[in-house]
Amino acid sequence: MKVLLVYPKYPDSFWSFKHALKFIGVKAAYPPLGLLTVAAMLPREWEKRLIDLNVRKLRDEDIRWADLVMISAMAIQKQSVKEILARCRNLGVKTVAGGPLFTMEPEEFPEMDHLVLNEGEVTLPSFLEDLARGTLKRVYTSRELPPLESTPVPMWDLISFKDYATMSIQFSRGCPYDCEFCDITTLFGHRPRLKSVDQMLQELDALYHRGWRGTVFIVDDNFIGNKARLKKSVLPAMIDWMEKRRYPFWFITEASINLADDEELMRLMQKAGFSSVFIGIETPSEESLRECNKFNNVKRDLIASVKKIQNFGLQVSGGFIVGFDSDTPSIFERQIAFIQQSGIVTAMVGLLHAPVGTRLFERLKKEKRLLPGVSFSGNNTDLTINFIPKMNLQSLLDGYRRIVTTIYEPARYYERVLEFFKEFKPARKKSIRMLRFCYVKALIKAMFYLGVLEKGRRHYWRLLLQTLVRYPRFFPEAVTFAIYGLHFRKIFSNLRPQLEGGK
Ligand code: SF4
Repeated sequence: MKVLLVYPKYPDSFWSFKHALKFIGVKAAYPPLGLLTVAAMLPREWEKRLIDLNVRKLRDEDIRWADLVMISAMAIQKQSVKEILARCRNLGVKTVAGGPLFTMEPEEFPEMDHLVLNEGEVTLPSFLEDLARGTLKRVYTSRELPPLESTPVPMWDLISFKDYATMSIQFSRGCPYDCEFCDITTLFGHRPRLKSVDQMLQELDALYHRGWRGTVFIVDDNFIGNKARLKKSVLPAMIDWMEKRRYPFWFITEASINLADDEELMRLMQKAGFSSVFIGIETPSEESLRECNKFNNVKRDLIASVKKIQNFGLQVSGGFIVGFDSDTPSIFERQIAFIQQSGIVTAMVGLLHAPVGTRLFERLKKEKRLLPGVSFSGNNTDLTINFIPKMNLQSLLDGYRRIVTTIYEPARYYERVLEFFKEFKPARKKSIRMLRFCYVKALIKAMFYLGVLEKGRRHYWRLLLQTLVRYPRFFPEAVTFAIYGLHFRKIFSNLRPQLEGGK
């Protein structure tokens, strides 16, 4: 059996980092972790190839080579999925799909030959058995949430590390919380299921022995879902592994804001080499937080919590949402003020969406507020909305535009970088972080684009100067943030015509 694993293309979006990646000469931010894991679950004797459309083109001869094309995707890749499917059908090659997009909206893909939904550890073996017997069904699904102990190490040999800025590992699935708009718990449940310490170390070894040095994204939606296990066994083992190898990786992950309440956990994460954590802040409005059931964020000084995490050497990037029923017209200025004061440099502000399967979707359906024929695009920043908001739509879009254009204008953005440096206290580790040629090239390019060509160049030079004088050891971070800022500005300036078109 020859199987071609295809990872669809991402549109140009906030998290694609497309405009920033050009500076370091890589093609994509993250590898297709799900497909690489599925590849490791397939029969050993099968011939396997993987094409990530974010890295290279899919040619007709690639499709013709395969007996089967397997696709995994998230909602944001929907358009590319449709194109791949049409090509496979034209060339007469059977298709099989799995992953979050297909699990949440299988009826959107009537043209797919087989759907292997929910968790691959449960449904893929049934598919493979039926394939061997010649009794294939169209849909394989199960609500079972299996333990992760049988999940194999991804088949890293199918990709080239050179194409990616970051490598990825999954440690756990599931989140104990219940935010109304979130589909993570619909997909993975509330009880966090974790890999064993041995598995975690094997995953690190797999990357290390293949030569990866640099950022590793632990892709869990809430890494701290089981704090006790992390503190007792996982983080101490990671610390030991990292110390012995002189810190070859720096980890980034996602967590809930209650990380700030656990100093021991933050200390251990810092010691293990964590450098950044994405947190769903959502909104400074208590009413809106209660409305969406984000009780972790209620009754706390959110800015103080963010700064505390920064004090423990962890950069905080944050998710923010506007469009809650409780949002009043003041929410836009409040979001801007919050983001500026918090020193959250990478602030992903999105419009509220109601993905299929979430409690929010069900509520809006009952209230007859879902827009017919509009499904969640998977991109919170593309100015689409799939329900009728309580706030006047034009005011909501105008307010949203005001937030994203304000927080990413050079003066405000660089101000935030300096605010972050004021709080950031990373450990001085003996890291083997090397001065790579690509970083030198990135620095030179940044000097040219941001320091000569860009309108906000005066603010850029001010940032570099102030960093050199006040926080010289953060100079690489200052340049990195400046490059990210350019990406974010391009994303939001590209959106402007759509914003106006949406009025
Ligand atoms: S804390 Fe994050 S992952 Fe957990 S339910 Fe809320 S939004 Fe989803």
